[in-house]
Amino acid sequence: MRTIKDLDIEGKRVFIRCDFNVPQDEFGNITDDRRIRAALQTIRYCIDSDCKVILASHAGRPKGNGYEEKYSLKIVERRLNTLLKIKKALYMAEDVVGPDAKAKAEKLEAGEVLLLENLRFEAGETANDEAFARELASFADIYINDAFGACHRKHASIYAITNFFDKEHRAAGFLMSKEVNFFGKVINNPSRPFIAVVGGSKVSGKLQALTQLIQKVDKVIIGGGMAFTFLKAQGYEIGNSLVENDLLDEARAIMYKAKKRKVKFYLPVDVVVAPEFSEESITKYLPAQEIPEDWMGLDIGPASSRLFREALNDAQTIIWNGPMGVYEMDKFSKGSMMMSHHIAETHATTIVGGGDTADVAQRAGDVDEMTFVSTGGGASLELIEGKKLPGLEALEKE
Ligand code: AMP
Repeated sequence: MRTIKDLDIEGKRVFIRCDFNVPQDEFGNITDDRRIRAALQTIRYCIDSDCKVILASHAGRPKGNGYEEKYSLKIVERRLNTLLKIKKALYMAEDVVGPDAKAKAEKLEAGEVLLLENLRFEAGETANDEAFARELASFADIYINDAFGACHRKHASIYAITNFFDKEHRAAGFLMSKEVNFFGKVINNPSRPFIAVVGGSKVSGKLQALTQLIQKVDKVIIGGGMAFTFLKAQGYEIGNSLVENDLLDEARAIMYKAKKRKVKFYLPVDVVVAPEFSEESITKYLPAQEIPEDWMGLDIGPASSRLFREALNDAQTIIWNGPMGVYEMDKFSKGSMMMSHHIAETHATTIVGGGDTADVAQRAGDVDEMTFVSTGGGASLELIEGKKLPGLEALEKE
């Protein structure tokens, strides 16, 4: 992969597509700034090379017809200021490709940085619109994609924009190259036993990744809402738990493939159940065989936690994507927290992928114990699936 190191950027105008889509609490505070910190290496490299730096990112899902306070990147600008410590030289545009952005870009001096407003304030971003991409491209001589977390999307700032830079003027940033190389190495050449821990809400979102993983790993541990589709496929009563009835056959096929390849396949043996999806609800800890008809499973139980810890014991490589339960509610967060601790305690190379999963590891205080916490959930899944990410393809085309 061609990276920013391979380009001559000295003194040039550089457009860096970042992923500053950071989680915020109900008061609008950033709860986890890892994505901003992860972008610093590329940004500082450009500042030190006397570039005029234009930063662009999306955040959340604004409607796409102009400014919305709730989705403004001002909060990112403030954090960037703190982290970069170059207060005087970081400017924020009030629009994306409008008069304010253009005027400020025009005035930018060497070593200074301009952050554009949320790319998704313009409908052209998600539509991969050529005209919008051309406007973005007009800000710079060099295009750097460092937005791993957005790279699986064919959006204007990721995809169409590359049409306006020839091959010598576009490349991946440091974060992007680190993410892609790490996943590539682990997936294609893992130390064994190699264990995949997969959770989260839906089988459908991770079906392809699971199918691929079954070909590569020695063990699979399933938790979260998706476990119930597998439990149901085995004939268990799962009550009102999350289930994808149209995927029961797929679930059986995955378990069959695992058996054929001698991949050990672990499902929860007990669950935390509640009559309704609510923090206030009463709960019971029950064996997976005993879920009452009108209750739902919202977390894995303590026996599953212990079983999974045993299964993880001899791991050399662990890839973890998806929480074990509804971790956002304290009552149903224990299974995910314990999983995070168990993974962190191993001596394996541990890779955490996905915003929710990184959030769990963060809340559990385990982030520093993990080998690698990816900034991209969907993108890392697509890498596992063996897909070419559109953003990477666009960078590398002739
Ligand atoms: P995903 O985006 O597919 O990784 O799923 C993450 C979401 O799955 C989190 O918001 C969890 O609250 C949710 N989740 C995990 N376990 C369950 C469960 N047993 N029932 C419903 N939702 C769940």
